[in-house]
Amino acid sequence: MPICPRCGSDHVIKNGHIHTAKPKFACKDCRRQFVENPVWKPISAETKVLINKLLLERVSLAGIVRVIGVSAQWLQDYVNAKYAAQPQVADIPVQKNAS
Ligand SMILES: [Zn+2]
Repeated sequence: MPICPRCGSDHVIKNGHIHTAKPKFACKDCRRQFVENPVWKPISAETKVLINKLLLERVSLAGIVRVIGVSAQWLQDYVNAKYAAQPQVADIPVQKNAS
């Protein structure tokens, strides 16, 4: 049996299956329901700070995935959201005075 991802308890029971036929578990201590090895998992603030530093060092996304162990899809979404949140710098051609 896996341990509870929320409280770390091993008071875990089988609780049916999700639609992909993966077994679903329920924690008897905190009542959290979960599947083993979920695709999505929360990324800590510390990890995001580290990822930001790696991005500034121009480490490739594939490199960050290997070093940090986040999913490539999560990292792509994170980078997209990060750049979408930044103000766009308009590239306006400078008009030269004809004098
Ligand atoms: Zn629990």
